[in-house]
Amino acid sequence: MFRYRRCLGIIVIILALLGSTGCGAQAGSIESESRLPISDHYFIFDTIVNLRVYDERITPEHFAEMKELLDGIDGKMNRLREGSELDRVNQNAGRSPTPVSDETYRIVSTALQYAAASGGHFDPTVGPLVELWGIGSESAAVPDQQQLADALQLIDYTSVSLDESSHSISLPQAGMSLDLGAIAKGYAADVLAAYLKEQGFESAIIDLGGNILALGAKPDGSSWSIGVQDPEQARGQHLGVLKVKDKTIVTSGVYERFFEEQGKVYHHILSPFDGYPVDNDLQSVTIVTEGSMDADAMSTAAFSLGMQEGRKFIERLETAEAIFVTKNREIYVTSGLKQGFQLTNDTYRLMN
Ligand code: ADP
Ligand code: MG
Repeated sequence: MFRYRRCLGIIVIILALLGSTGCGAQAGSIESESRLPISDHYFIFDTIVNLRVYDERITPEHFAEMKELLDGIDGKMNRLREGSELDRVNQNAGRSPTPVSDETYRIVSTALQYAAASGGHFDPTVGPLVELWGIGSESAAVPDQQQLADALQLIDYTSVSLDESSHSISLPQAGMSLDLGAIAKGYAADVLAAYLKEQGFESAIIDLGGNILALGAKPDGSSWSIGVQDPEQARGQHLGVLKVKDKTIVTSGVYERFFEEQGKVYHHILSPFDGYPVDNDLQSVTIVTEGSMDADAMSTAAFSLGMQEGRKFIERLETAEAIFVTKNREIYVTSGLKQGFQLTNDTYRLMN
């Protein structure tokens, strides 16, 4: 997972303390009085991590512990990290079950649930396809038909066995591999949020390469303003703003990681059905909900399903809201977000 360098970088940018939303002046005064937010940023998971905590009690030790938490997750769930739990599961494919930690077991079982719920459009067994395309790596290239056909044979979430009693995972066929790139970053954001809460911090923005978790509210009790990246523009250009408290905002889009060959763009969300980058009517899907692991899985699933099915998929989930951006610049917002979302780029049309 997380193996790809971002092409345009962060999907959703934080506008929390900027701009025309009425919070700029307040934020300025907080900052001059008290140095807030206190932040940390670095590169892990092949992702830019940006943590901002709005509480003066946060210390470098807290930040160090958070980094350790992230490194621990990467050490378990990064299929490219030699000796990681996921690597061991993948190496044992076609041979024997691999016992894993509660954590990894839970993420894999959640991923399999989303695979079933999305009719296989989200599929954590896409490892061989991800490997084949190499999107984000130096060797990214369009595979030939035979290679694609061979990889597709290895993709089947229904064949993964989980054994609850021993917490072990097995892949029945050699060459199969699990990839948690579409869910683990969200999980990591949840882990950091739980850590901060446990330590008594109530106001923070956790940004894992565009997977945003807005913990609590701003220090003055008002909502955060989170920008939704314009999928057609460079990083930092947003098409709208979301007002939220205690929510996660996660986007999947065509522009996130990609390469170009002969004038055609190939992005990193792959169809387990034809083996190519998902090509439908969507440019991006943004999910707004409580848990970031769920949001991460949902955004990839809804994006892969396409506008119509993706919308039905989200509407069936009571606690999730979404913003769908189509290739012809139409924006569909689920009912619960109608109040909280403001379109700021008028080259897009907000639909009913
Ligand atoms: P990002 O990592 O940019 O936030 P996503 O959460 O949508 O984007 O995850 C994309 C990653 O998930 C890919 O880089 C790959 O590792 C993996 N992946 C690609 N296609 C699928 C799919 N159909 N189902 C599940 N995971 C996928
Ligand atoms: Mg995802």
